[in-house]
Amino acid sequence: MEKTTCAIAGGGPAGLMLGLLLARAGVEVVVLEKHGDFLRDFRGDTVHPSTLEILDELGLGHRFAGLPQRRAERMTAVTDQEELLVADLTRLRGRHRYIAFVPQWDFLDLLADEARRYPNFTLRMNCEVLGFTGSGLRYRDEQGEEHVLEAVLSVAADGRRSVLREGLPLREFGAPMDVGWFRMPRLASDRTGPFLRVGGGGRLMVAIDRDAYWQMGYVVPKDSPAGDREAVGAAVAELVPWMAGRVGEMGEVSTLRVQVNRLRRWYRPGLLCVGDAAHAMSPVLGVGINLAVQDAVAAANLLWEPLSRGRVATADLAAVQRRRTPATVAIQSLQLLVQRRLIAPALAGRFSAAPLRAMSRLGPLTRPVVTLLAHGVRPEHVRVPERR
Ligand SMILES: Cc1cc2nc3c(=O)[nH]c(=O)nc-3n(C[C@H](O)[C@H](O)[C@H](O)COP(=O)(O)OP(=O)(O)OC[C@H]3O[C@@H](n4cnc5c(N)ncnc54)[C@H](O)[C@@H]3O)c2cc1C
Repeated sequence: MEKTTCAIAGGGPAGLMLGLLLARAGVEVVVLEKHGDFLRDFRGDTVHPSTLEILDELGLGHRFAGLPQRRAERMTAVTDQEELLVADLTRLRGRHRYIAFVPQWDFLDLLADEARRYPNFTLRMNCEVLGFTGSGLRYRDEQGEEHVLEAVLSVAADGRRSVLREGLPLREFGAPMDVGWFRMPRLASDRTGPFLRVGGGGRLMVAIDRDAYWQMGYVVPKDSPAGDREAVGAAVAELVPWMAGRVGEMGEVSTLRVQVNRLRRWYRPGLLCVGDAAHAMSPVLGVGINLAVQDAVAAANLLWEPLSRGRVATADLAAVQRRRTPATVAIQSLQLLVQRRLIAPALAGRFSAAPLRAMSRLGPLTRPVVTLLAHGVRPEHVRVPERR
């Protein structure tokens, strides 16, 4: 029987950050990731100042800055009548006054490369976790063979469709929308930076500038298909007329299902849930990755010592939930407010630009909200020592 100290299901932002931090503290850790690489388009790519500071604390700021990225200092919403500045990050305090848009596979590769420097870290790709045995993780490897990895602590960082949180009490909040996700070609002469396009008849289109191309999100009512390339292309041409000439070159459309939920209890003896496995985040405000990273930092800060001693009490796991619940509740509440006040009415054809106009008019007065989004409600800092 294989044994380790901490077995983590899922190599997303939560799983890899936790794996890196524990490995740094000298804890033996194995991360099991079901895919063969991190190269998947549906992952968001907004890295907020909270995460940028954590990367600095880990000495990774310089390498992160070298990744292909776009830095957005301002967020704008474009309606039929006007262009509104809804968030101005240049007014923030601190070193990082922008959101970095980085393809998530580059970010995850960076974390994985850094973690691999520690001999006590193992990342196993193509390994799908099937369940929690009570004392470890059952998983299937690339050859289709099943194994059990015994661990002092198992962690569910396997995202919003976690197979490990089964049986834990879950609260669903719902979302009025799903998202059609596709690429559009980008020309050097295009505007730069992300924008939200709100059109008449309640159509919403998000455009993320990935430098080489536009990553587009077409917001559709819950459980309705985003449509085929032709239908979505027609929506692009109508909402973003300057892209009309290139709809023939757009990529395939995949529909991403949005969920917002939260476990009432994030743990059971020997198992802790973090990131989307504990609280699935809406894409609204682009904060999910950053919250997942903050969960990982908090969990590592609280657990590296018990793990080093080879014994984690249920009270230690409860402490992680206690630490992260206020931040999660606050951010999810804000997401639900935007879903209710802006997105649901827009999808029902009753869009009102008033909240966006208010944000735009309030200017510097919106700094507390922007700070909250950029740094999180309870910023986490790396307290884990480096032990080699
Ligand atoms: C349409 C959409 C767009 C979004 N856009 C953004 C955005 O722009 N910015 C942002 O901050 N947030 C965004 N989010 C939210 C964000 O994606 C999540 O909050 C964030 O990815 C959570 O990180 P995580 O590490 O907890 O989980 P995930 O990122 O979901 O990672 C889970 C990992 O576990 C792996 N895995 C899953 N099941 C298993 C298994 N059984 N065994 C082994 N491995 C497994 C997966 O392959 C994955 O690598 C978006 C969400 C949606 C739905």
